[in-house]
Amino acid sequence: MATSFSFSHSSTSLLILQSSSLLPSPSSSRSLHFQTRKNSLFQLRTRAKPISFSSSSSTVEEARKEDVVIVGAGIAGLATAVSLHRLGIRSLVIEQAESLRTGGTSLTLFKNGWRVLDAIGVGTQLRSQFLEIQGMVVKAEDGRELRSFKFNEEAEDQEVRAVERRILLETLANQLPPDAIRFSSKLAKIERIGTSETLLELVDGTQLLAKIVIGCDGIRSPVAKWMGFSEPQYVGHCAFRGLGFYPNGQPFEPKVNYVYGRGLRAGYVPVSPTKVYWFVCFNNPSPGPKITDPSVLKKEAQKLVRSWPSELLEVIDKTPDDTIIRTPLVDRWLWPTVSPSASSGGVVLVGDAWHPMTPNLGQGACCALEDAVILARKLAAALEAGPTAVENALKSYERERWGRVFPLTIRANLVGSLLQWENPVICAVRNNIIIRKLVQLGPLLEHTNFNCEPLRKTEVSQISS
Ligand SMILES: Cc1cc2nc3c(=O)[nH]c(=O)nc-3n(C[C@H](O)[C@H](O)[C@H](O)COP(=O)(O)OP(=O)(O)OC[C@H]3O[C@@H](n4cnc5c(N)ncnc54)[C@H](O)[C@@H]3O)c2cc1C
Repeated sequence: MATSFSFSHSSTSLLILQSSSLLPSPSSSRSLHFQTRKNSLFQLRTRAKPISFSSSSSTVEEARKEDVVIVGAGIAGLATAVSLHRLGIRSLVIEQAESLRTGGTSLTLFKNGWRVLDAIGVGTQLRSQFLEIQGMVVKAEDGRELRSFKFNEEAEDQEVRAVERRILLETLANQLPPDAIRFSSKLAKIERIGTSETLLELVDGTQLLAKIVIGCDGIRSPVAKWMGFSEPQYVGHCAFRGLGFYPNGQPFEPKVNYVYGRGLRAGYVPVSPTKVYWFVCFNNPSPGPKITDPSVLKKEAQKLVRSWPSELLEVIDKTPDDTIIRTPLVDRWLWPTVSPSASSGGVVLVGDAWHPMTPNLGQGACCALEDAVILARKLAAALEAGPTAVENALKSYERERWGRVFPLTIRANLVGSLLQWENPVICAVRNNIIIRKLVQLGPLLEHTNFNCEPLRKTEVSQISS
């Protein structure tokens, strides 16, 4: 694995970096000083001259020093930052975008996701904005009901709600101190410095020297790439998603509605009194071109299900263009001994950056939330004890989480394959025998069992003592 990796090769963003023995003292170098929080002076370096990347030696001039830097302000990054914050640990979140992702649609959170949101203190606030989903209805493409389930009959204390991603992100971000997220901060380069620090360079030339780097930078994670992970694999189907808007109130019961066809499935679920989330998942031999025109996306999604139950078509029709997206589905299987380690030398991965999984179980974000609290607890207990304790904590996080996320990634993939079958005979068996007669929902939702106590600052001293 390379110790230095550049993600962006713009000439202005490249620096020569040197080993830790050549680090000048912070006071000796040119720097722009600015006050980022009360009583603490951080130094943000500006480069006097662009330096060629071709040289093998490097100079860490004056980098802003941070204990914990989190790369990415998605669900994983923000939940990790909030979890650490609850335990009294400051982190800096760097996000490439100019602001929180305000677009996007919705995602379904099962009870494991809600346990985490409760533990970090935002569950009640979010619950009040999103409907509790009582059950699930499965239909064939002609609208015939194949089966229906009630969640509380199948799995005790299950809690299912679809939440708007934007509101989830804003709610998490609002828990953090004002200077905790730095936007327009795309990670361009990462390098291990000595044995206990990592240098991060942003595309604007800013350098950060961190004791711990938490890569929460999503499915195409540059941090994961640097750690030796391969690109996630396309699984053969893509999803359209959108958020239907009913200004005068949506008409649906609080149930998840699925429609299963051949090589094609769709679903919709009420999110709030005025919004309904929908998806259409279709087989495609390749991820296809990136289409950004939302009106084209809408037409394509409608075309796929034009003869399907009319309420699905109506939800798509009621969708503002700017909430429609199309995503090729990918995952990465974390084979033991083959897959790189999720933590190495103070750098660790969380969420999709480590374990991208297909959305067939609705567990990607739920698992990212679980990762966040578990990592924060282990890290908080270890930070005061020094680098060896931190390294052990990261390894312990990896061991515990690998046993959770690896089987779920495989299962989600297999469920997706089953639901995307095209063969008419197999689909008839699936719809008329497996779904109608065999499937019980309870055992299929056992993976949502996850207990999580509230995070409290006082627990850090208890864990570490
Ligand atoms: C179709 C579909 C449906 C889904 N439905 C569900 C569901 O119902 N339930 C569920 O639990 N999960 C669901 N998921 C999965 C869920 O969306 C993801 O697991 C979750 O969003 C992962 O969050 P994350 O923070 O790890 O990554 P992301 O949300 O991708 O966040 C990564 C962040 O890192 C930033 N970043 C990337 N590179 C850099 C860089 N170089 N420098 C700085 N910042 C960077 C990005 O801008 C982004 O803000 C679904 C996924 C898909 C595709």
